[in-house]
Amino acid sequence: MTLTTYRNKRNFKKTSEPYGEQKIAKDQSRQYLIQKHAASHLHYDFRLELGGVLKSWAVPKGPSLDPSIKRLAVHVEDHPLDYGSFEGTIPKGEYGGGTVMLWDKGTWQPQEADTYQAYEKGHMTFKLLGTRLKGLWKLIRLKNDPKNWLLMKVDDVYARRDYDITQKMLRSVVSKRSMDEISKHILSPKRTTTKPSTKSGKTKRASTKRFSAKQAKKTR
Ligand code: MN
Repeated sequence: MTLTTYRNKRNFKKTSEPYGEQKIAKDQSRQYLIQKHAASHLHYDFRLELGGVLKSWAVPKGPSLDPSIKRLAVHVEDHPLDYGSFEGTIPKGEYGGGTVMLWDKGTWQPQEADTYQAYEKGHMTFKLLGTRLKGLWKLIRLKNDPKNWLLMKVDDVYARRDYDITQKMLRSVVSKRSMDEISKHILSPKRTTTKPSTKSGKTKRASTKRFSAKQAKKTR
C-alpha cells in the first residue's frame, strides 16, 4: 500500500486534506498538477499520476521554462489522486501546515514505452499538457541520493529564457485566488453563487478586486 506514508504523516481529524484511496488505473488517465505550498519553506509540489497514485516531488524554486536551469526536485511520499483537487489551508502544527494553491493542472504523456521502468530508473521524459506548463520536460534522479531529482525543461517551442513563470503566475489556476485569499478562506468570484447584495449597492466586482503582488508576497 503506497499511501501508508502519506496517511501516517497526517491527522485527518485536523486537516481537510483527503484520506484518499489508491485507485487501480482503468484507463490511461494521467493527471498532472502543481501545488504551490507555503509550508515552513515555500515550495512547489510537482505531481504525476502513475500506478493509481500521484508520484510527488517538492521543488523548492518551482519550475523554470529555461532549459539551461535545472531545479532540485525532492521525491516525497505518494499522494492519493483526490489530492489533485485540494486547495486550502493545512492547520498550523499539522504536517505540511500552511496554504496550498493549485498552481497548474492538466495531463501528462510519458515518452518512454515503459513508464514505470523509466520512473524506477530515475530518468523520465514526458510531455505536459497543463494550463501553464507545456511541452517536453525531464525528471532525472541524482546518483548520490535517491531522493534528489532534477526537474528541467527540454528545449522546444515552449522553452523561454526571459520569463520567470513562478513570479508571473501568482494566482490559482482553478479559483484565481492569491495565496493570501486562500489563507483567509476568501471564496473565488467564480465560486460565489450568491447574488450581489442590493442593499449595500456593492456588486460582485468588489470581490474580484485584485490583490497586488506585494500583498501576495506577504504570505510567504
Ligand atoms: Mn508540500
